[in-house]
Amino acid sequence: MNGLMQQRQLLISDLIEHACAHHGEREVVSHLVDGSVYRYTWHDVHARAKRVANAVGGLGVAPGERVSSLAWNTHRHLELYFGVTGSGAVLTTVNPRLFAEQISYIINHSESRYVFFDTSFSATVEEIAKACPNVQGFIAMCGRDQMPDIAIRGLRCYEELIEAADTKFDWPRFDENRASTLCYTSGTTGNPKGVLYSHRSTVLHSFGTCTADGFAIAARDSILLVVPMFHVNAWGVPYAAAMSGAKLVLPGPWLDGENIYRMLRNERCTITLGVPTVWLSLFDYVEKNVDDTRRREETQLTRVVVGGSAAPRIVIEKFERYFGAFVIQAWGMSETSPVATVCTLLAKHQSLTLDQRFDLQTLQGRAMYGVEIAVFDDDLRRIPHDGKTAGQLKVRGPWIASAYYKNEDDSAWGADGWFATGDVAMIDPDGYLRITDRSKDVIKSGGEWISSIDLENVALSHPAVQEAAVIGVAHSRWQERPLLVVVKKPGNNVTSEDIIEFMRGRIAKWWLPDDVVFVESLPHSATGKLQKVVLRQKFSGHRFSTDLSDLTSMSRP
Ligand code: AMP
Repeated sequence: MNGLMQQRQLLISDLIEHACAHHGEREVVSHLVDGSVYRYTWHDVHARAKRVANAVGGLGVAPGERVSSLAWNTHRHLELYFGVTGSGAVLTTVNPRLFAEQISYIINHSESRYVFFDTSFSATVEEIAKACPNVQGFIAMCGRDQMPDIAIRGLRCYEELIEAADTKFDWPRFDENRASTLCYTSGTTGNPKGVLYSHRSTVLHSFGTCTADGFAIAARDSILLVVPMFHVNAWGVPYAAAMSGAKLVLPGPWLDGENIYRMLRNERCTITLGVPTVWLSLFDYVEKNVDDTRRREETQLTRVVVGGSAAPRIVIEKFERYFGAFVIQAWGMSETSPVATVCTLLAKHQSLTLDQRFDLQTLQGRAMYGVEIAVFDDDLRRIPHDGKTAGQLKVRGPWIASAYYKNEDDSAWGADGWFATGDVAMIDPDGYLRITDRSKDVIKSGGEWISSIDLENVALSHPAVQEAAVIGVAHSRWQERPLLVVVKKPGNNVTSEDIIEFMRGRIAKWWLPDDVVFVESLPHSATGKLQKVVLRQKFSGHRFSTDLSDLTSMSRP
């Protein structure tokens, strides 16, 4: 016997309808490329998203067809998030930090009919236009007076386009499994692969992130969305913000420490989200410019969601000390919408000392309802959740991808529905996940594994270390040994020995890096992740001082 409940499909258009109907007065604040600030409300987002839906239809984009965006976090991008998807078309958010060839690959591969772009990417658009012959037009996301002076076919002005469109639009109702957005993974090898989200997966993911043990996003929150809207739907937060009616602050391209601090202060932000590296510049700014009392008085921050890479302990500590804010570490990937696990506390953790709590917060957290996680050995047998044994992490659930767009490379999916993440991890008896490495980054020393993430965490706690990366480098006896690559904080003359001494006692002796090298900067991918492939190439010829020719004299490090 079936239940007698209504079959209302889960559609993104209902999120913006809800935000307008129940939180219409709540503000959305957008920092634009030209430095101006645009303030409006969810009520206005709703009206302009409907104009977008009409305009996109008027351009001849049929339901299911794709349009691309190359844009910062601004109100216009937000309008595409709701207007394009609500109309039934699919929004492909392209990362403007990629190389021109990768951008045109994504636009062509997604068969996008139009490209919406922020004027700061005009040069990129001019460069790729010829390589994207099937794009019918390019829409500059600005007013008429700010139109870029570029010679490309079908150049249109966003404000004119939507001004001419009606605000009346009846969102079509369709199957919730229809596609809504398309994001490409920033793979370091081969072409990017498309992850195609559905209305259903997006709405369910929003429910998940709004729960108390998700990010607890509520109507009272003011969210500073540092994580870019061109990467995995900005962790789904624009949709979760509409679901909960939170105030949304969009920083545009202004992501340096001073601007982030200014926005946190001026917009009374209670929660912000981003990858670990962006917070380093915030700390740098406040350490030099804002004293403890002012910081505490001026800001309202209670939570910071850190993900995309492991949240270093020092980031967790500094948010607590400087702002009284709790770092929620989250783990996920493009293929998981992205949030799959979230690190929040259990009842038994209420009495932890601050130090013990910080240790716990360095874990990637527990599976959200709806997501299953498990680790497997090389023979695909499940590994016990003992917190000690590492293996390949797999996930499954209603917001986990079931295939790549156009079915390219299905090797990550097993017959049982599990998706192999490519991360190496362990899970403890309480269900907390600890990612130790990407499988290709793991350091194999003397038949055992060393976690580069753990080593980086300890190195980053050294006061003179700005950034740290650990890679495995060939060693004639141990197969591989860890090499620590460090960017010093300006004005420090810390030595390799100082750093090794600092790390001694904080990690197992045989994990200690065999060498430390100092560099000016570390290579990052377009999504802010350390590019260890580049580092491994650069240091492939590195010879450790421990790698003696007289191997018989060596004992285990
Ligand atoms: P992407 O699909 O570009 O978002 O990258 C996903 C990958 O980022 C994951 O497979 C992990 O290797 C890494 N990652 C994401 N969040 C975390 C985290 N909290 N800790 C460690 N690694 C993470």
